[in-house]
Amino acid sequence: MISHRFNTGTVHLLGLATGDDLYNAITDYVRSHDISAASLSFLGAVNRASLRYYNQEEKKYQDFAIDKHLEVVAGTGNVSILDAGPFVHIHAAFADDDGHAFGGHVNEGTEVFALEVTVFQLYGTAPTRQLDETTGLMLWGPPQD
Ligand code: ZN
Repeated sequence: MISHRFNTGTVHLLGLATGDDLYNAITDYVRSHDISAASLSFLGAVNRASLRYYNQEEKKYQDFAIDKHLEVVAGTGNVSILDAGPFVHIHAAFADDDGHAFGGHVNEGTEVFALEVTVFQLYGTAPTRQLDETTGLMLWGPPQD
């Protein structure tokens, strides 16, 4: 286990517009506001969802899309550093008109109907992602200071 410590900072409330790309809109916001470490949560609705599932045996992502109107039951994520810039990592659960839920790692291509996002900015040295040989994932490295 590794541990990074922060002081809590500015909290940003964002209202995304209909038609926004969920992933790109949040990424654009954090990059343009120099947010390199944050925790985030969101809820609302999307027109379609573009998701990924990580196959742990093959160590590969499997992309899939759900092309219907969905509620965003719960969205969670964080911001850290990847390739020297802020990187947004988001997972979410969605539900259809029967209340059936599914979810995964959120990709570009998830189109917003209405979305409320809370970004809890953190003050301190952001974790940097590096390749973890065991999982094949880009995970947080140890603190640099
Ligand atoms: Zn993920």
